[in-house]
Amino acid sequence: MFEPFYEVINNVSKTVLKYEKEQGRPVVGVMPAYFPMELIDAAGGYAVQLWGNNLPLGKVDGYLQTYCCSVARSVLELELVGGAEMVKAYAFTSLCDTLINLREVYKRLFPKPTLEISIPMTQTRAARRSYLKSVIQSVVEGLEKVTRQKIRGDALAEAARIRGRSRELQRGLYKMRRQRPGLIKNKDFYAAIKTGFFLPPIVYNEMLETLHLGLDGLEDRGSKGPKLVISGLVFDPMEIYGILDELGVAVVDDDFANGWRTVSKDELRVGDLVEGVTEFIFNPAPCCCIYNPDNDRHPYLVDKVKDAGADGVLFWYIKFCEPDAFDRPQLMERLREESIPSVTIDVELSMTSFDAIKTRVNAFCEILEG
Ligand code: SF4
Repeated sequence: MFEPFYEVINNVSKTVLKYEKEQGRPVVGVMPAYFPMELIDAAGGYAVQLWGNNLPLGKVDGYLQTYCCSVARSVLELELVGGAEMVKAYAFTSLCDTLINLREVYKRLFPKPTLEISIPMTQTRAARRSYLKSVIQSVVEGLEKVTRQKIRGDALAEAARIRGRSRELQRGLYKMRRQRPGLIKNKDFYAAIKTGFFLPPIVYNEMLETLHLGLDGLEDRGSKGPKLVISGLVFDPMEIYGILDELGVAVVDDDFANGWRTVSKDELRVGDLVEGVTEFIFNPAPCCCIYNPDNDRHPYLVDKVKDAGADGVLFWYIKFCEPDAFDRPQLMERLREESIPSVTIDVELSMTSFDAIKTRVNAFCEILEG
């Protein structure tokens, strides 16, 4: 049932080249996170999400320090070694300092256009809106230059509908996993979500519709192992899910930036695009990278654990992501107050040895079961 998803994520370049040729749309590489890809679709581009990769890192050392996160380092390595030739432009948000600086590095090193949505740090909705108004206008103009196509209202509405459907289908998988833990192996689940990074959304939706039909008819396998919520930025490396599956862990929910924080977003409201994009970026799930005092991560995470019936939280720390690291001590403290156990694993996207992670997760499971 999941083979077509693995086929995509194990052959990303081949997949992107295939659809680029079929569709005749310029590929726009989308950096983390929350860039409304509906704009790219409506402008006639092909959005491909870049959340890092597992390339061995070499050339990037000349441009980014080793203490930058492996998301930024690996996407830059990809471009430096010529692995992103098909990408004609890059779309950034100002999610963190690393990404803001990375965009400047791209501007200096490569001739490819860059587009940026700067996420405002303001207290009020009105201030956010007024700032984003000019930002969105410049992104729209930039995109239209890249694709040489105007963004029409009907194309934008259609793009919003299709992307909204993708996230709705993904939310269906999340719901199924919460309600029937163990039904979907952890690795298969994230293979299905990750596939959406690389496919045109209409193709992805067809795959998800088929998957839903298949899963609806499956009998519950049941899960005897611990149930965990995972919190982090990026849900790679995928090898770790193999370990969780082997240990009998059922992930029942997550708080990944490229997982639930994105999947939870409703259909982009395009009637008032500025309001729609403002809502899209700031809601509904809180994010360690976005200043939004109205949307506190502490009760949010506690509720998430309780709603999912989880036994504990696994913090999935991509070294050296500062926004994630700055939030974690307070989040762990809050979980402790609620008697919810938690543990942290340190990961890098290019890591090849997982023994230490297996030992750590296994020990945490023994504590939960004991
Ligand atoms: S992993 Fe953290 S530091 Fe790296 S790009 Fe994402 S938010 Fe920024």
